[in-house]
Amino acid sequence: MMTGNDWENVWLIKGKTFLESFPNIKSGHAVVIEDGDGTHPGIGSLPWGGRIVSFERSNGQIPCSNPKCTGGVYIEPEVYDMIQKGEDERDFPIGCPGPRCANFFKIKVVLRYKS
Ligand SMILES: [Zn+2]
Repeated sequence: MMTGNDWENVWLIKGKTFLESFPNIKSGHAVVIEDGDGTHPGIGSLPWGGRIVSFERSNGQIPCSNPKCTGGVYIEPEVYDMIQKGEDERDFPIGCPGPRCANFFKIKVVLRYKS
């Protein structure tokens, strides 16, 4: 069974892209609604703080918008669990782990599998 560290080895440290790491996935993205300091009007029809993060160009981190925070949230354990279970969509909340940062994210991960 893979741990979170193994996931990072697959996706981040070895430098593989998301799609190279998961050949049964056609595409994946996260709809991110961020609340807190430094957030911006939503992209397109999304509410304030809303944006789309494509996994094809992602290192697994959703960057935090707080100008005093250099971190962000790592969502790869959730995504990996979804792939293991064959889930198409999953909503979950996650708080920024940055020190003295109170930004909060509502994440909806959408995966499309190859048929
Ligand atoms: Zn933060």
